[in-house]
Amino acid sequence: MKNNFYLDLAKKYGTPLYVYDGDVIARKFNQFKAAFKVKSLKIHFAAKALTNLAILRLFKELGAGLDCVSIEEIKLGLQAGFDPSDIIYTPNGVAFSEYEEAIKLGTKVTIDNLPTLEKIGIHYPNLPIFIRLNPHLMAGGNSKISVGHIGSKFGISIHQLPNILRLVKKYSIQVEGIHVHTGSDIIQVDIFKRVAELLFSIADQFENIKSIDFGSGFKIKYRDSDIYTDIQLIGSQFATYFNAYCEKRKRDLTLRFEPGKYLVSDAGVFLTQVNVVKLTTACTFIGVNSGFNHFIRPMFYDAYHEIENISNPEGEKKMYSVVGYICESDTFAEDRLINEARENDILLFRNSGAYCYSMSSNYNSRLRPAEVLVLKGKDYLIRERESFDDLIRHQNIPVVKNWI
Ligand SMILES: *Cc1c(COP(=O)(O)O)cnc(C)c1O
Repeated sequence: MKNNFYLDLAKKYGTPLYVYDGDVIARKFNQFKAAFKVKSLKIHFAAKALTNLAILRLFKELGAGLDCVSIEEIKLGLQAGFDPSDIIYTPNGVAFSEYEEAIKLGTKVTIDNLPTLEKIGIHYPNLPIFIRLNPHLMAGGNSKISVGHIGSKFGISIHQLPNILRLVKKYSIQVEGIHVHTGSDIIQVDIFKRVAELLFSIADQFENIKSIDFGSGFKIKYRDSDIYTDIQLIGSQFATYFNAYCEKRKRDLTLRFEPGKYLVSDAGVFLTQVNVVKLTTACTFIGVNSGFNHFIRPMFYDAYHEIENISNPEGEKKMYSVVGYICESDTFAEDRLINEARENDILLFRNSGAYCYSMSSNYNSRLRPAEVLVLKGKDYLIRERESFDDLIRHQNIPVVKNWI
């Protein structure tokens, strides 16, 4: 979308503001779908990346399923119109009562530890379930983003496969599918292939399995030099392995994925306004009307986000550090060349669709931003800006006679 359109939206709705381009989301979803040519494919959007009800509805309209990691996300999915059977519940470390609630609501559940598997066997022996495995494979050797390594809390270790099989046999548990989400970056086809081969060999142990869920890990570009998942390439090669495995088993298994970031990250931008341009002896800061309370990725993950001054696109490029208004060192970007910034200019942060609004908070008692969805050039307010009333809604000052 054109920067002038974003300027108009900033004027219309105020800042800070999240804007999502629904047409981009649809294009990414359809590209993803087209990349994997298998008989049965189901793409579950990982709700935690961007949980706004309107976004969830858009995914429903696109024919996606949902991947939820909490009972609240499930309820949001149902509210958005999803059929419970299109929702996969993939939590970790939750109480058994939460699984029971998800089962009652009719979602598919993925079991991520042995004690829970045993409880399923005792209480729900006929319920078809998914089992989350930890294959202990790491892509690229970056342990920070991998959840598949040996010390990871996620999934049941493949070394405990005998324990899984023992419980499955003892209680006649119905294993409908197996699941991995390594969290690793899926860039190289060969690593993906290794995970697949491992999973196929495990799948061989389960006679009635109907689907295999490969989670996510699809990487997008935050800057031009970033390596990213070539979905066409990965998809076509992966489909070949998968189809060969189906042929071997003489059964059409459903291939499932749970992308979050890949589908929504570059569909979103975050708009902030320049409060102050502050020259110090070391550098020039641009202070904006937001902070890590609204946009935590640079501080939390050292994430890089492109930042543009859309109010002054012809302005001379200068070196700036862009910082927030929170009473902590909340730096969005250091030493960036940005068109000259002046008070009240609008800065646009790219790749703000995934894990941005959904990780926001009220720290410093600041109000959370509004969210806008654009569909075919028309803008819709999909979440109102918070008000001071929202902030105090659930707080009470007790009625006490003698406080001290
Ligand atoms: C977070 C998560 C995803 C989505 O990961 P992305 O990197 O956003 O694609 C998928 N599956 C599970 C189980 C997750 O926890």
